[in-house]
Amino acid sequence: MSHVRIEGLTKRFAGKPPAVAVDNLSLEIEPGEFIVLLGPSGCGKTTTLRCLAGLETPDEGGISLGDQTVLDVRGKVNLPPNKRRIGMVFQSYALWPHMTVRRNIGYPLRTRRVPREQARTRIEEAAELVDCAALLDRYPAQLSGGQQQRVALARGLAAQPDLVLFDEPLSNLDARLRDQVRAQLHELHARLGFTAVFVTHDQSEALALGDRLAIMKAGRIEQLDTPERVFEEPATEYVAGFIGMSNRLPLLRQGEGWALASASGADGQAGAESQTVVDELPVPRSHSEVSARLRPDDLQLCPAEEKPPAHSVGLPAEVVDAQFGGRHMDVVVTVGGSRLHAQAPLTGKPWARSLSRGQRVTAWFAKDVAI
Ligand code: ADP
Ligand code: MG
Repeated sequence: MSHVRIEGLTKRFAGKPPAVAVDNLSLEIEPGEFIVLLGPSGCGKTTTLRCLAGLETPDEGGISLGDQTVLDVRGKVNLPPNKRRIGMVFQSYALWPHMTVRRNIGYPLRTRRVPREQARTRIEEAAELVDCAALLDRYPAQLSGGQQQRVALARGLAAQPDLVLFDEPLSNLDARLRDQVRAQLHELHARLGFTAVFVTHDQSEALALGDRLAIMKAGRIEQLDTPERVFEEPATEYVAGFIGMSNRLPLLRQGEGWALASASGADGQAGAESQTVVDELPVPRSHSEVSARLRPDDLQLCPAEEKPPAHSVGLPAEVVDAQFGGRHMDVVVTVGGSRLHAQAPLTGKPWARSLSRGQRVTAWFAKDVAI
């Protein structure tokens, strides 16, 4: 376990146009902390990990692991991967097909010249940790996807590295296995307390695993915070959109309150614009337009003839599509020209089960949900 410090890390790739994959990125990681880099494809997550591992030559910046400087571009320090106390677990597992599980797990120990007897113990301990002790003499081709990923996990941990890097390690597993291996990884981290940087584009994975999340955009960190804060108080529109606030409801200042702005005007609901829908929002007077950001489960539906609950904002809406989701319906509605996603609970409200295209309903949200 050690303190990790990344300072001003920059990596450019030649090409037309040249790509700045990592753009002056700085990050401090506490010993034992589990950091998640979350962002869309192409935002520089993998390149950041590869710079940490020593697999890329950065253009600028420095990295230290505990008291060891592993990278200092100005001072011309760039330690090779096997000189850094770092373990890696990849999306593709990257197991050697011609080596047994035992040799695969032992690979990082051999590159670090760990004595044979000690390596043997470490391999068996690591396999035990991820329930693979019975598989040590098999070849990767004789394992299921979940077993292969657990072996890759054991290999990442076997050398007892100061820092473990994970590059979307769960994304090739089917949904049920993904949940299983995720829970196992969460438990393993709680038990062993290794320092981790985990890359994903999956927000639920990030919320579940991270002590802190770094939301990345175009090679930079857009917000660095606990999962709770990122979820409840996204710093920017970009973060809000990425963390599941997929609904955007444009509002215009009208007198003391706010009225729905018709997003396109295409559906001819011109009347919606003149209607005051919200009288108080935590927004300065100087603003003339805002976007209300709502999660699908913050947007509720009720029959058009019913009044929505007190302290909520109700809007006339039309159902575009309704899908059965077990305990709720996933519903797409249009409200004043905006397409919004609602999640209508079915428990105690069987009404929502019969929603169908073209139906007029009231969409409502509590006034105090994040705006
Ligand atoms: P992510 O892992 O978030 O999907 P990457 O770190 O793989 O993103 O890529 C970041 C950017 O750098 C992308 O624009 C990608 O096209 C570019 N890039 C990554 N690797 C290379 C490479 N070897 N050569 C050229 N461009 C690259
Ligand atoms: Mg990647």
